[in-house]
Amino acid sequence: MSVWSLSTSSEEETGRLGRCLGRLIEQPLVILLSGDLGAGKTCFSRGLARGLGVPEEVPVASPSYTLMNAYTGRLELYHFDLYRLAEPEDLLELGMEEYLPGDGVAIVEWADLFTGLAREYLAVHLSHEQADQRRIECRAAGAGPLALMQKWQGEWLSQA
Ligand code: ADP
Ligand code: MG
Repeated sequence: MSVWSLSTSSEEETGRLGRCLGRLIEQPLVILLSGDLGAGKTCFSRGLARGLGVPEEVPVASPSYTLMNAYTGRLELYHFDLYRLAEPEDLLELGMEEYLPGDGVAIVEWADLFTGLAREYLAVHLSHEQADQRRIECRAAGAGPLALMQKWQGEWLSQA
């Protein structure tokens, strides 16, 4: 499985990384996010939403209490936060299987609390390095996500 690792040094840069990916998405996709509290999962998701065309004036906040927030951009965007879910059965109650994959883009915070959420996905793991620095490790499962990750990496490196 191919891995792309990089570091960001500000919230703004992590947002820009998400936005860069969001701009490239043209078809339904599952994005699995993992990393500790404050690692930048919501910040990345917000950037991704902007890149996908969710207007700046629409607030993109953490769905910690609602479990899922839906947005409309060039595609539908479903933003999940599984932190408060305790049992795999809760996923069924949420109707997760309709979204992974579904007709739009599903981005899932705390995806690592559950296994086997999707067969094909882009996984992004964020971790604290020091102060405002975050290590970001991206992995793809499936041909579509892999091609997208390579495009994303190329685009990001060409901007740097
Ligand atoms: P999570 O959803 O993973 O709990 P958030 O995105 O809500 O994390 O919060 C990340 C916090 O870390 C914010 O307060 C943000 O300002 C701060 N931060 C500092 N440096 C970075 C960075 N490089 N990337 C993302 N967030 C950062
Ligand atoms: Mg969050």
